[in-house]
Amino acid sequence: MLVLVINCGSSSVKYNLIETEREENVCKGLIERIGAVTSIVKHEPAGQKPIKDTRVIANHSEALQEIMTYLLDTDNKFIDSKSDIKAVGHRVVHGGEMFKDSVLIDEDVTDAIRQAFDLAPLHNPPNLKGIEAAKEALPNVPHVAVFDTAFHHSLPAHAYLYGIPNRLYRRYKIRKYGFHGTSHYFVSRQYYKITDKPVKDTKVITCHLGNGASIAAIDGGKSIDTSMGFTPLSGIVMGTRSGDLDPSILFYIMEKEELTLNNLHALLNRHSGLLGLSGYASDMRDLIAEAKNGDRRCQQAIDVFCYKIKQYIGSYTATMNGCDAILFTAGIGENSPLIRKQSLQNLNYLGVEIDDTVNEEAKSGTIQKISSDKSKIDVYVVPTNEELVIAIDTAKIAQAKSQSPWV
Ligand code: ADP
Repeated sequence: MLVLVINCGSSSVKYNLIETEREENVCKGLIERIGAVTSIVKHEPAGQKPIKDTRVIANHSEALQEIMTYLLDTDNKFIDSKSDIKAVGHRVVHGGEMFKDSVLIDEDVTDAIRQAFDLAPLHNPPNLKGIEAAKEALPNVPHVAVFDTAFHHSLPAHAYLYGIPNRLYRRYKIRKYGFHGTSHYFVSRQYYKITDKPVKDTKVITCHLGNGASIAAIDGGKSIDTSMGFTPLSGIVMGTRSGDLDPSILFYIMEKEELTLNNLHALLNRHSGLLGLSGYASDMRDLIAEAKNGDRRCQQAIDVFCYKIKQYIGSYTATMNGCDAILFTAGIGENSPLIRKQSLQNLNYLGVEIDDTVNEEAKSGTIQKISSDKSKIDVYVVPTNEELVIAIDTAKIAQAKSQSPWV
């Protein structure tokens, strides 16, 4: 089934056209700076060089029109007509407590996504704009929402409750939700395909290390804890997000620097993490290059990042009472031997041993074991593919709808 996957940010639309039976990406692209004087448009047909251009794109509806025009272009031959696309899958960041699975989008679902605006003010509003724009562009096909939080729905109460008055959970649903669910799900499933152990007995720690980064403990196929929380701000240090903090720091800096709530939000989300620590960059490649040139703060940022990863690995090994495999994924996890090695240094009490040569030579794009044969815990690099998970879920739900006697 040909499925269009849409991931909308406040000023961007990312898309993937995926053939689900062959699990094949046909074309992907990104439209950035929507609403600015000029927008940047990139289309990347599979196996070909990306085509980059600038255009005036005022809103998400125009972005969807641009995507459809490109896919329908007779020179490109991706689709002959809109009806070749059988369903649209939407990445929605926050599903609140309501959604433990992907769902067919109807009015109740869009209302529920709207109700979760408060929980994810940066993500859910643009996600909903994307749904509305895509429904306008493709009104006659099923649209499906796939939630970043859904895979972590299995967290037990002792993992998702915070130590604050329980009425705040009951009244405002303040609890840990966890994010990057589709990625943690996908990489754990890739591991189950290559291990002999039955899934129900398998304990896995997945490390999704990109600009946003999170770690999950997956016991018997289910997420039982994860480092991000009520929002994607908590957990390990990220590109520009602080990760875990002593909450008293917030009152302290607000007072000392006379910050408003908005200032504080920007400080912790956009000016902290690797960028804040290094005072130089949020991009791990830049930090590694500068640290090699002797920059002490860049080195410290890397050290803090790796230390936090190691802390979570230790914590989740305790949580699960063991661990069979540690899986690294996303931009940093898939591409940086240095970060993988440093995060796992001095874990010999757990019996983790990296094969340095294999780790250094691991090529991006394929699953590779980087632990030595003596290691008690397998360590793998596993490329993530969140879009494929969204496309496959969407195809399943669209198929079920077309076979239902009630439609
Ligand atoms: P996101 O999808 O969250 O924006 P990605 O998964 O694309 O992020 O990861 C981006 C991060 O991956 C950046 O910090 C980038 O520097 C890092 N990265 C990519 N390639 C490498 C590499 N070869 N070595 C170190 N870091 C890398």
